[in-house]
Amino acid sequence: MSRHINHFHTPSEGFVCVSCGRAVAPTEQGTVHRNHCPFCLASCHVDIRPGDRRASCGGTMHAVAVFTSQSGEWSLIHRCTQCGVMKSNRIAGDDDEGALLALALRPLSTLPFPVEAITRGRTAAGVES
Ligand SMILES: [Zn+2]
Ligand SMILES: [Zn+2]
Repeated sequence: MSRHINHFHTPSEGFVCVSCGRAVAPTEQGTVHRNHCPFCLASCHVDIRPGDRRASCGGTMHAVAVFTSQSGEWSLIHRCTQCGVMKSNRIAGDDDEGALLALALRPLSTLPFPVEAITRGRTAAGVES
């Protein structure tokens, strides 16, 4: 079944999130450009450059990581589930803090090594303190 709903309209309009299905209110004054859902942080691959709506892909873009600039500003890294492109987008003032924190902490919850390896220090292999 294919039905096309234009989920992400111009920044000043509200939209229904393509990922979590929640209704997102129109952009508040002072918010420059909303390009992702404030609840689940998902976006839609519609821009080539921010705000131009010139990408023909239309795939859902999931937030996969948090990036911080040298000034400490947070951005989301979005990856398109359709074409695989990755883009960074600045967080918005009304983004869900829990969702942001969960995304930032995700790598720490799936460490590729046992956490004891850190507290054990750099002792020789097999030597227990
Ligand atoms: Zn959402
Ligand atoms: Zn795409």
